[in-house]
Amino acid sequence: MPSVTSGTILVTGASGFIGAWVVKYLVEQGFSVQIAVRNDRQGEFIENRFPEYKGKVSHINVPDIEKDGAYDEAVKGVDGIIHTASPVVFSWEDPEEIIGPAVRGATGILKSAQKFGTNVKRVLVTSSTVSILAYDYDGSAKPGLTFDETSWNTLALELKHDKSSSPWLVYQTAKVKAEKAAVDYVEQNKPAFDLVTLLPSYNFGPFIHQTGQELGSTLGMLVGTFATPDTTGKLTGDWVDVRDTAKLHVLALQNAAIGGQRLAATNGIFAWQDMYDILNDAGYDAPGKETKGAGKTKQNTAVVNTKTFKYFPDFKYHPLEETVRDMGAELKARGFLN
Ligand code: NDP
Repeated sequence: MPSVTSGTILVTGASGFIGAWVVKYLVEQGFSVQIAVRNDRQGEFIENRFPEYKGKVSHINVPDIEKDGAYDEAVKGVDGIIHTASPVVFSWEDPEEIIGPAVRGATGILKSAQKFGTNVKRVLVTSSTVSILAYDYDGSAKPGLTFDETSWNTLALELKHDKSSSPWLVYQTAKVKAEKAAVDYVEQNKPAFDLVTLLPSYNFGPFIHQTGQELGSTLGMLVGTFATPDTTGKLTGDWVDVRDTAKLHVLALQNAAIGGQRLAATNGIFAWQDMYDILNDAGYDAPGKETKGAGKTKQNTAVVNTKTFKYFPDFKYHPLEETVRDMGAELKARGFLN
């Protein structure tokens, strides 16, 4: 199995929460990075984000990832690809706005790599634990039950969506369809590179990407709960520190034995109240002060991460307290938390 230990890596979604950390760790590991972004403004922001990026990070514009051949130019001359770009939004006019870019982006980059990426040895596609496990609506999900990478969220795969569908289920469908389409593409077309899919759970932690007046992705979800806090301890999910997710992307690129596999990146179960407690204890003004400890009643089905330790025995996930405290500092610095 080919691993990628040097050279240039194409990173999509580099303007996002996870992608920005992936770029940072790639540079720290000595890689050059080409980022695919939607416009020069994003590209230039990232190129100049840290002094050590000078001469190591460059950008190429890919304005529409759904277009045939969108990545044809971007894959030329790169040694590996990390494809994180996919919509992480939960409001839309039409579910295709989410499913289309997720699926066509993932298959499109593989097609481009096979045609024009003559140096590409490995492609990594960021999937999600929602591609393993149906959260919130799966009647079979029971407290104490665990799933691993052998499981596929076939429920979300088979759902037919329309404008009245739950955005959360649409997101699940988009992610599992995109991952399945990528795996099928490689099986059917047998390119010279191999494929690894990375399946993180809810990412939290500090952020280094550009943010606007609203936070997107899972950061936006957390801040969204400040207005209508969940203090029951029952709204739960699996979580992981964004820095661990990004590091696992870079490690998976470099590890020969992991070629062709799915790798979950996850570190246990959280309730929103757990985060409020950590933020409040650290002196921030989060909701849920009167319900401190209610998160401890949480119960859910979990995704296990035994593969991380099989392939990366020395890997250490951040504990929730550290992740949330570091995130709190950045949320405060950018005006999202008092
Ligand atoms: P962000 O919303 O912070 O970043 C998403 C990235 O994808 C941005 O760079 C964005 O570009 C790009 N993108 C979104 N839609 C499109 C599109 N239609 N065309 C081109 N680029 C697009 O999300 P995250 O960083 O959190 O997520 C990154 C990946 O990780 C996604 O694949 C997501 O599904 C997956 N993931 C995320 C988890 C999480 O908890 N955050 C958990 C599990 C998986 P732009 O800046 O131009 O909008």
